[in-house]
Amino acid sequence: MSGQPFRVVNAGGRSPIVLICDHASNRMPNGYGDLGLSEAERQRHIAWDIGAAAVCEHLAARFDAPAALSQVSRLVVDCNRHFTDANLAPAISDGTPVPANQNLAEDERRRRWEQFHQPYHQAIEDVIARKLAGGQEPIVVSIHSMTPMMNGRARPWQIAMCWQEDERLSRPMLNALRARGDIVVGDNEPYSLDRNEDYSVPVHAMRRGLRHLQVEFRQDEVAEPAGQRRWSTIFGDCLKVVLST
Ligand SMILES: [Zn+2]
Repeated sequence: MSGQPFRVVNAGGRSPIVLICDHASNRMPNGYGDLGLSEAERQRHIAWDIGAAAVCEHLAARFDAPAALSQVSRLVVDCNRHFTDANLAPAISDGTPVPANQNLAEDERRRRWEQFHQPYHQAIEDVIARKLAGGQEPIVVSIHSMTPMMNGRARPWQIAMCWQEDERLSRPMLNALRARGDIVVGDNEPYSLDRNEDYSVPVHAMRRGLRHLQVEFRQDEVAEPAGQRRWSTIFGDCLKVVLST
């Protein structure tokens, strides 16, 4: 990979929604090779959020919203982790050791943080600053996807809202999704939002008191284009209702 460690889609989008996608790509930057992992491992959920980038881009188009997407695998640096987090560059992920991350030197951690992690977050800051300068109050929507199996257990939730304290958008979204009656919705399951663990929503939205959502789509539902369109529509339909009431 060369060039920017992030991309911004629809930068001039007029919606107050600011979409972010921390784990959009499984790309390895120049000089990082394959981190010692096989092609098959680099295609797994440990390297990225399968399907999340496409869902994010569908939503950016539908709502005319800007979207910032990381372009570096989370095995190189996890853009949703704080600098001090041991999983910023995981030595082991879902049972798979990452050879290049064993006993990672402090200066290499800092290099990844400065070269990839922080430029992505500066791009988000720039989008938010433009919204604020234009008199809009940004609504931060963080798009993730989750593996259908973890530690040998199947996850029943097809979509999940992750929140901490601030339920302004997550509660009505949960209600709207459940009112459909045909999907299994996780309320802080399998994950909650945690300002000590998550980086992006706490730093960009919670710190400023901005409304926000963090959503997880189950990867088997969004791995293919048809599912990506279907779930973008389901989520987008509910979001449209929630934001208009
Ligand atoms: Zn993710």
